[in-house]
Amino acid sequence: MTPQLIAIDGPVAVGKSSVGSLLARKLGYIFFDTGMIYRTFTWKVLKSGVSSEDENALYRLASTTKFDFVPSREGLLSPLIDGENVSSQLSCPEVEEQVALVSKVAGVRQTMVSEQRKLAQRGKVVMAGRDIGTVVLPWAELKIFLVASAEERANRRYKELLEQGEKVDYDTIFAELKKRDEIDIHRTISPLKPAADAIAINTEKLSLEQVVDKIYALARSSSIVRDSSPAAQNDTRGAIKQ
Ligand code: C5P
Repeated sequence: MTPQLIAIDGPVAVGKSSVGSLLARKLGYIFFDTGMIYRTFTWKVLKSGVSSEDENALYRLASTTKFDFVPSREGLLSPLIDGENVSSQLSCPEVEEQVALVSKVAGVRQTMVSEQRKLAQRGKVVMAGRDIGTVVLPWAELKIFLVASAEERANRRYKELLEQGEKVDYDTIFAELKKRDEIDIHRTISPLKPAADAIAINTEKLSLEQVVDKIYALARSSSIVRDSSPAAQNDTRGAIKQ
């Protein structure tokens, strides 16, 4: 049986989005990159002038924000925040610098996790992030954890930005990537880590297509027996902290 929910987790710039969107297209599923919702909310935090250190204000802001998800390109979803699509502004340096700080706040994660679970109820979803297999969808039938060295990931991000015509500096990219990894791995709530039953794939020596093919084969294999029905989900839904 092909899994209804596929979780793909991993660190900054490991290729979750490229792999996830290609895999979803191949399976005829929808793809959602949960980094987008954290970035979208961080954009609102910056616009509102709320400090990323004021946990109560962040919680209030998150719980009064309206999120929606609309199809963008084929099979991909983009978040709307209070009805607005701000996707084109989510890679700006200000968001890049603040997003990991905003994302470590428990009250913020509570809202985000609830939005992501609502989205997963549509079924046939590939969802990428940091805590999808451990916290958001621990009942996902297939969990993948992508890994690659920080040097390799920084190099990929550097090349990608160069191709987009941006003026970039490798050392700056490397330093920012390491900084964000540090915060994501060491935060108290939902730190970046593989689920106990995740399958780790080192992407360093593999092409994008090879990684997608590997996961596709796993999804098609009949060895997946976990139950992703709503009844089974009730057992684990309460737990946000892990
Ligand atoms: O994946 P992306 O780099 O866009 O994620 C931006 C940031 O959002 C991450 O560095 C992390 O702090 C946060 N994030 C998270 N949990 C997720 C997805 C992203 O904390 N599931």
